[in-house]
Amino acid sequence: MVTPQGTALLDVAIEDGVIAAVGRDLGGTADETIDATGLLVFPGIIDAHTHPVYLDDLESLPVTAAYGGVTTVIHFAYAKPGEGLLDTIHRFREEGEAGSVLDFALHGGLFDPANQSHEVPDAIEAGVTSHKMFMTYAKLGWMTDDYQLMRTMDILGTAGGMAMVHAENGLATDYLQDKTNEAGADPQDVFVATRPAILEAEAIHRAIAMAQAGDCPLYIVHMTAELGLAEVARARALGYRVYAETCPQYLTLTEDALRTQGPLVKIGPPLRAESDRLALWRGLADGTLDTIASDHAAKAKTREDDFFEAPYGSPQAETMLTLAYHGGVNGGWLSPARLAQVMCENPARIFGLYPKKGAILPGSDADLVLYDPTAAVRIEHASQHSNASYTAYEGMEVLGKPVLSMQRGRILLKDGQLHASAGNGQFLRTSSGRVALSTLQTPTAGAS
Ligand SMILES: [Zn+2]
Repeated sequence: MVTPQGTALLDVAIEDGVIAAVGRDLGGTADETIDATGLLVFPGIIDAHTHPVYLDDLESLPVTAAYGGVTTVIHFAYAKPGEGLLDTIHRFREEGEAGSVLDFALHGGLFDPANQSHEVPDAIEAGVTSHKMFMTYAKLGWMTDDYQLMRTMDILGTAGGMAMVHAENGLATDYLQDKTNEAGADPQDVFVATRPAILEAEAIHRAIAMAQAGDCPLYIVHMTAELGLAEVARARALGYRVYAETCPQYLTLTEDALRTQGPLVKIGPPLRAESDRLALWRGLADGTLDTIASDHAAKAKTREDDFFEAPYGSPQAETMLTLAYHGGVNGGWLSPARLAQVMCENPARIFGLYPKKGAILPGSDADLVLYDPTAAVRIEHASQHSNASYTAYEGMEVLGKPVLSMQRGRILLKDGQLHASAGNGQFLRTSSGRVALSTLQTPTAGAS
């Protein structure tokens, strides 16, 4: 079993869907016994960043995630301009309760804070305590300006919620894009240059400053760049409550993938340099980064599409654990204990789901993943379950895969088959941004 202290030979007893006991040579009898010899037992994987509004919806996204060893998802409930925040949250909750195979929580997604932020206190009452705004996508009309960002962080801070930001300077990146378009450059060739890391770092800095001014905890989604890590490290040294996430795509691929995959790896922020990729692993290892989540957004696009017109996003949930294990543990960056911390314990703590989720402790939900670290896997779209028409990792060979998972004591995944019914998932109320940073940073000394 992978515990916060390291890896140990232990037994787990489950009764009525919760962990009853953890220890060696547990006495008593069981209706069913599972032999996990040779496998690692992780707490159920939490994917705290999913978008069930494209090709994979509130019913199908948890399915593809479950095949990858995920047992809890936190979806973004995007309230588009003209939509109410509470209406959106209620709709997502109802659809999720009717169709999700996984337990799920929700983040609010504010596209029009000027007309939506007044609903934030009621959303927090409804169990949705983390709310995201875009500092980018100005031309798409999704950008929140500093006035509304400051106002919403003030509302969130007062009401006991947490802000989340997509941190890139949207007006500056739009200018760079206009300039290169007018010069006739191929959008694919200049994509990364029009969204440089320093404009991500600038937005992170600005978001941190406003969150401090609003006395509001802040969670920065999909960190990609070494320059951004420096901003987070600086804020945390000052004791600011800033949490930071990265994603498997930024840990696995670099901007070189744009040349071979084109629009398929058009994501925002963009894939960056090899030095950034390595800095992200370092950040996970040293505690600057707290979580890995997928940013799963399955969009309809092909390699041949016009790059400029192609939508942002890629399917990531099903490959997340395998890629994080392969890159992190096999790659020598993370112990299994630290991997469990950034994929299970930390997201549970940051969003207030701990110790119900994210831990294998007496009283925790019996959400487990049995992982075979010796299984050779060739990642192929043909064996994936997203409705997307591709995977960004086609042909990649990795070591390790989940072979069994369970949620609240029920088998979800076994031998490559899903044993779950739509609607089994429960809605989870969150309580975000309450955990001290020191709790998140390193597994207890002695971790192997
Ligand atoms: Zn996202």
